[in-house]
Amino acid sequence: MEKLYSPYQNMLEVLDDAAQKLGLAYNDYVTLRTPERELIVSVPVVMDDGHTEVFQGYRVQHSSTRGPCKGGIRFHHETNLDEVKALAAWMTWKCAVVNIPYGGAKGGITCDPTKLSEEELRKMTRRYTAMILPIIGPEKDVPAPDVNTDAQVMAWIMDTFSMLKGYAVPAIVTGKPLEIGGSLGRKEATGRGAMLTLRRLLEKLGQKPQGKTVAVQGFGNVGGTGAKLMQEQGFKIVGIGDAFGAIYKSDGIDVPAAIKYAEKNNKSLQGYHENGLQVIGKDELLTLDVDVLFPAALENQINATNMDKIRAKIILEGANGPTTRDADKFLQEKGVVIVPDILTNAGGVIVSYFEWVQNLESFMWDEDYINQHLEKIMNKAFEEVWAIHQEKQVPLRTAAYMLALGRVVKAKKWRGVFP
Ligand code: NAD
Repeated sequence: MEKLYSPYQNMLEVLDDAAQKLGLAYNDYVTLRTPERELIVSVPVVMDDGHTEVFQGYRVQHSSTRGPCKGGIRFHHETNLDEVKALAAWMTWKCAVVNIPYGGAKGGITCDPTKLSEEELRKMTRRYTAMILPIIGPEKDVPAPDVNTDAQVMAWIMDTFSMLKGYAVPAIVTGKPLEIGGSLGRKEATGRGAMLTLRRLLEKLGQKPQGKTVAVQGFGNVGGTGAKLMQEQGFKIVGIGDAFGAIYKSDGIDVPAAIKYAEKNNKSLQGYHENGLQVIGKDELLTLDVDVLFPAALENQINATNMDKIRAKIILEGANGPTTRDADKFLQEKGVVIVPDILTNAGGVIVSYFEWVQNLESFMWDEDYINQHLEKIMNKAFEEVWAIHQEKQVPLRTAAYMLALGRVVKAKKWRGVFP
């Protein structure tokens, strides 16, 4: 997949298109076509059986124009530099679209975490943190969870950084456990933001959530929480899937029960059962006849091989980069409404921003305050993107990029090119 579609190339094409629609000269945004900094590290780990394994790790900082770099860390066997570069750039646009004072970064290690023991995972995380230490810090670059990394991994990063500094530095990462400075609402934030975005979109389209069918690809933090919150709003979750398989139930799956099952079953839905439930193919999940398709797994899932079979009327991009450029164009022309990743999944980084601010202030906010402020920021960004979409008659993705790029370019102009 990665040979066929380069996520970074995908990002550049969307960027160039938005720049052209904004009337920017190439010189106005050329510095944003390449990341500011790309670090590749070798991460040696003495494995449980005594042999030493060397993993490749990355940290890419795309832009620090609007503030410290911000972005998650991914552990996945297919993670590579091109993917991490794209993810870092998407973070720049995401923070700009919701107007929080961050730049964009991302990190990752090429590894299969399902094959590592907890001790191996801990050692790998700590050594990786030590290797990227010179370029991270609360005022420089603040990591967070992404695919296959969670609050425990963030706690190990926080501890490693703090040990090497000699004092506790909670603001070095977000998505931490509450007990060491994590924020209320952070775990649910990305799914909550996606649900709020979908609700807002339906309002614009003059529709109601009640009975609208949804298929969800990826049943981790984003997919699982998003599905649960959508169900609470009246959406009917008829299909869900993960790396191991997919299931379908025409009158709606009991999402909280499925989440509980996956939590106990090594994060997998395999073997989950309800009356009336059918096991379907992973590919079939994406082509179900539903109102909303919610991809919440990885990049490039909706592509030239399946785009003509997609039947959903709305694609709500929970994952980063789930739609390739060719599929994006094809589906837009078909009239499918695609809500772009940089808007849909921004809830996570918004509450990460709240977590970082709470850490810097050494003051904790309550959950209602956090959720209210999340909703306020998400709604404002949605309205701004929608206004550009209407006024300029461009797809929502182009509108979101125009908003984001416009903000970053203006910030760059004020700062100028050093020296
Ligand atoms: P996660 O590790 O919690 O869950 C990932 C899910 O995707 C798992 O259920 C896994 O089984 C499934 N999956 C993996 N490969 C798959 C495949 N080939 N086919 C189908 N399912 C597959 O990760 P997450 O944090 O939920 O992240 C999911 C996506 O959302 C990623 O693109 C990530 O970059 C993006 N995202 C996450 C956050 C966040 O706060 N965690 C914020 C913004 C964007």
